[in-house]
Amino acid sequence: MTDYLIKAIDKTKNIRLLTVNAHDLVQEAQTRHDTWSASSAVLGRTLIAGILLAGAELTDKEEFTVRLLGDGPVGHTVVTAKSDLTVKGYVKNPHIALPPKKDGHIDVKKAVGQGWLEVTKDLELKEPYTSQVPIVSGEIAEDIAYYLTKSEQIPSAVGLSVFVNPNNSIGAAAGFMLQALPGASDSLIDQTIERINQLPALSSSFLNGMTPEELAKLILGEDCKLLSKDDVAYQCDCSKEKYAQILATLDKKQLEEMITKDHGAELTCNFCGNKYHYSEAELKAILAQR
Ligand SMILES: [Zn+2]
Repeated sequence: MTDYLIKAIDKTKNIRLLTVNAHDLVQEAQTRHDTWSASSAVLGRTLIAGILLAGAELTDKEEFTVRLLGDGPVGHTVVTAKSDLTVKGYVKNPHIALPPKKDGHIDVKKAVGQGWLEVTKDLELKEPYTSQVPIVSGEIAEDIAYYLTKSEQIPSAVGLSVFVNPNNSIGAAAGFMLQALPGASDSLIDQTIERINQLPALSSSFLNGMTPEELAKLILGEDCKLLSKDDVAYQCDCSKEKYAQILATLDKKQLEEMITKDHGAELTCNFCGNKYHYSEAELKAILAQR
């Protein structure tokens, strides 16, 4: 496994940073959903953002769902990340590839379009809490930073990068999230932003083997302290029982039609592509239990 998340803090303990190599998990999403370049970049960046948000803010059994509701060709993108640093997601239209921008990069902004970024925090034992901000950039990193600054009142900087190979496999996927703690002075923040502006392109750095530890040192300085290192992974938690519960919420009439007309039902999980089949007898049992 090359995928992991690092948490680090600068020597004054006022700037917190998370860096992640997410190559394998974005590759798994690409394989499961057969995404083409623009869809891979949008889904990949949103998956990395989900992992960083989860790593920064969640504790036991909590989760974040990030919905990128743009009007671009990729369509809505949904990602759920959990406190155990597993993530899953999908894009409405996986088969989108666009002409590259002048600098050769994937035109993520065009793929996403305009609309809203919605983040739902599902905290155990509490009502889920949703905040919504307009999509201000469409490049996703800036949008997540805007959400954190606006909704969470945490001055933040975010970098997200996905490099897609010509054969659609994922070459590199990485990101960082920086948060200024209340004690951070303006000069410290300026100095850190300056280091971020001087960073080499994330995708080529990670293609050339850069590690999350090395990225943390480039941003926070050689004297930063590494606090933790954790594996991250693509993982769906769906099951036949979970989808049976969803079937149970359907109209009685819809369920009866599945029994009498279709003699069964097959559901496909949006997040992982697994298929679940329900026989006529199983549907009758679901109907009887309602
Ligand atoms: Zn699933």
